[in-house]
Amino acid sequence: MVKKKPKWKPKKFVIGVTIDMKTGKVTPSKVIQAKTPEEEKEWERGFAERWVDSMKILWGDKFDWFVRNVKYFIDKYGEEEFSRRWNKAMKELERKEPVPSNFMDKKELKEIFELMFEKLKSISIDDNFIDDISKRRKTTFDKNRPDSFFYQQLVGTIHVSGYRVSILRNRWDDIKKAFSNYDVYKVSRYTDRDFKKMMQNPKLIKNERKLRACIENAKIMKDISEKYGSFGEYLERNKTNLKKLKEDLIKKFHYLGNVLVLEYLKEIGIDSIKPDVHVVRVMYRLCLIDSEKMSPENIDKVIEVASKMSQSTKEKLSVIDAIFWMYGGSGDNHVKKAMCSKNKPLCRECPLMEYCIFHSKKNSE
Ligand code: SF4
Repeated sequence: MVKKKPKWKPKKFVIGVTIDMKTGKVTPSKVIQAKTPEEEKEWERGFAERWVDSMKILWGDKFDWFVRNVKYFIDKYGEEEFSRRWNKAMKELERKEPVPSNFMDKKELKEIFELMFEKLKSISIDDNFIDDISKRRKTTFDKNRPDSFFYQQLVGTIHVSGYRVSILRNRWDDIKKAFSNYDVYKVSRYTDRDFKKMMQNPKLIKNERKLRACIENAKIMKDISEKYGSFGEYLERNKTNLKKLKEDLIKKFHYLGNVLVLEYLKEIGIDSIKPDVHVVRVMYRLCLIDSEKMSPENIDKVIEVASKMSQSTKEKLSVIDAIFWMYGGSGDNHVKKAMCSKNKPLCRECPLMEYCIFHSKKNSE
């Protein structure tokens, strides 16, 4: 029996949308269908990929998010300005350029930074906030530092992960002693007996995974150092390509994930931002990113937004990092209160209401 060929059902291609400025409803305004399957295939490859289907390809989740929140943007910018920004975004899509951060321009990014900065300064505990920022502004990468410095920061970063800094504050001397003053060569020779001794030491945190990772990492750092002359030299040669360096470190070292590796780079003076939960939450509420997920894609988006903010403010990424981190958490006692905490954001005294989709939604409910 000859199998019947399934009948071809032409696909609909939306090549334009209309936005109702009163309701914010986005509807397809121009739909076309191919006359033959061959033509359809052709469209799928090229022409049709450039509009709504392509908008989804290019915007990803952001397009659905944008459609859901379009009313918010119309109200925020007014019809005229909204239309201008929309048309600009569409042109960028046609040219296949990356979609801008939800319509924010450099001026707005700068203003957001300045408003946060001033607010944090006004609620700083003593000079803690300003001191921290000044330190970050001055921190630079120095390849000539000894391996022990880079190892100390690695051990510190791994230890701090998941703990409040204050919990570890009184333990650093004991940690330093247990890790032979961060002498990479000495730690790389640690045996199972040394590990067991560490696990029995009441002054250390008893986290088997962390302690094992720190010991193993000493061996890895020693090997890299021997290959390049020093660990600083290895970093110096690779630091221009931050993404590659980040991936290389994750691959080489134990316990360093997508987020922690950025914290480590920051600690050793290579300018970066650590997208932790506070940073991600505040950025999401301010419409700077479209999701609160800690996925690798979202982490890359955080870095992208922070880089744009860094360009517009001429501040380092690590300063941008501190500002978002302290705004969402208390910055480990740098400021008197967390402005934008998960459950109790202090919206009434927040200067960012105008930018905040979370606040605007809460009020419209
Ligand atoms: S208005 Fe409220 S939710 Fe929005 S950023 Fe400020 S504190 Fe956070």
